[in-house]
Amino acid sequence: MFSQKIKFLILFFFLLIFGNVNSQNKSVLIFNANVIDVKSGKISKNQAILIENQTIKNIGSFKKLNNLAAEKIDAKGKYVIPGLWDMHIHIEGQDLVEDNKALFPVFIAHGITTVRDAASDLGLQVLKWREEINDGKILGPTIFTAGRKLEGLNSIWKGDLEIENEAQLTQMLNYLDSLQVDFVKITENTLKGDLFLKSVIEAKKRGYLVTGHVPYDLTINDLASEGFSAIEHASYLLRLGNDENLSKKGILSGTLTKAQAEKDFLLNFKQEQAIKAYSDLAQKNVAVCPTLIGGKQLAYLDENNHKNDDFQRYLTKRFMSNYQWRIDRMANDTPEQKQQRKDRYQLIAKQLPYVQNAGMLIIAGSDCAALNTFVYPAASLIEELGLFQKSGMTPLDILQSATMNGAKFMGKFDKMGSLDVGKVADLVILDENPLLDINAVSKTAGVFTKGKYFDKSALNQMLEDAAKKKAELDKSRE
Ligand SMILES: [Zn+2]
Repeated sequence: MFSQKIKFLILFFFLLIFGNVNSQNKSVLIFNANVIDVKSGKISKNQAILIENQTIKNIGSFKKLNNLAAEKIDAKGKYVIPGLWDMHIHIEGQDLVEDNKALFPVFIAHGITTVRDAASDLGLQVLKWREEINDGKILGPTIFTAGRKLEGLNSIWKGDLEIENEAQLTQMLNYLDSLQVDFVKITENTLKGDLFLKSVIEAKKRGYLVTGHVPYDLTINDLASEGFSAIEHASYLLRLGNDENLSKKGILSGTLTKAQAEKDFLLNFKQEQAIKAYSDLAQKNVAVCPTLIGGKQLAYLDENNHKNDDFQRYLTKRFMSNYQWRIDRMANDTPEQKQQRKDRYQLIAKQLPYVQNAGMLIIAGSDCAALNTFVYPAASLIEELGLFQKSGMTPLDILQSATMNGAKFMGKFDKMGSLDVGKVADLVILDENPLLDINAVSKTAGVFTKGKYFDKSALNQMLEDAAKKKAELDKSRE
């Protein structure tokens, strides 16, 4: 018969063994890895990364960390980077709720673990998904969202918060406060410059990051002086190679049309003047989200018909039917207009190395959305990064733009955006070195996010499931 003491000891060891296994179940070790420090571009070879739950607990030698994890992932010959951030997407379409939801795992399968939703008509649904993803109820990228954006009356976009005066502005900002949005976005379809500028000022007062388009009746400098956080779309930068004040005056007095202003921005562009302006914007902490891919898809529509794009296996017919309006809008373009679109795209793309060297923060974003023709969710960010490289940016600068710069911009760099101890464990294992060629970000071997590791076959399964869901939705709507 066991004495009480021995019984106690048996119980103690029982608890020790099983208690330990339990805690080990939540820890994962990725070892033999080439770990990329996105801050410096340094590659540390043969490293082991210990993850507990959703946090990077330690980075060091396999020998030191080997005993601390239950699940081990051999990353021999592979490269580990932080999860990618797509800093400009739209989850949109009142009739595309299921279609959008089915695409969340597709982002993960492409190594995109965080997205910034730049407002849409599905804003309230997106806020719900933001919570469900955070709570682990559905799998998808971490979402930062503007919810719905500020505009003038009767704008062409659905779901905007339309304002006509300061009282309505206050009302809408109160509403955005109540939604707990992550930033404020403003566009200029029908919103007048003075109320646009007032919106920036008031939103800043409430502590928001404020981003958006640039109205013709304001200058970029007007916005920067009031603390505008980021210019969405690098196309607006072309104004900085011209006299912005002059075109603003022309627009306000009615002596210049918007179309003529656009033509001037392109044809009278002075590179040196723009470079100086980029430095001024960098001083004022204005970031830019270039979104090259959308402009490129439209400019080169006559050369690429996109009929056989692989990605369409994930997009429902209803989702893709939204692509048509931009195609129709361009159908009557003259050969001169077509050429101008291409010239304009090339000039915008050419700006990126200058913008980078001037010290502006570049945050990579695709502008993928049902309304943005052939700008596919997830895949278009990878294409965008390839376009950055063609523009002359270095692979390291590009990798930063798609990882730590997003975290810096959102004020989350202490917790996200690089592979450092204590940070959220969002990471991507790549077969090839992205610092040699950024296109290696498409060579995904595995993704760790939301406390789970997904190997290549799990990622492929996500893609298969999305394709299956697309087919089901199409069929149910026949
Ligand atoms: Zn957009």
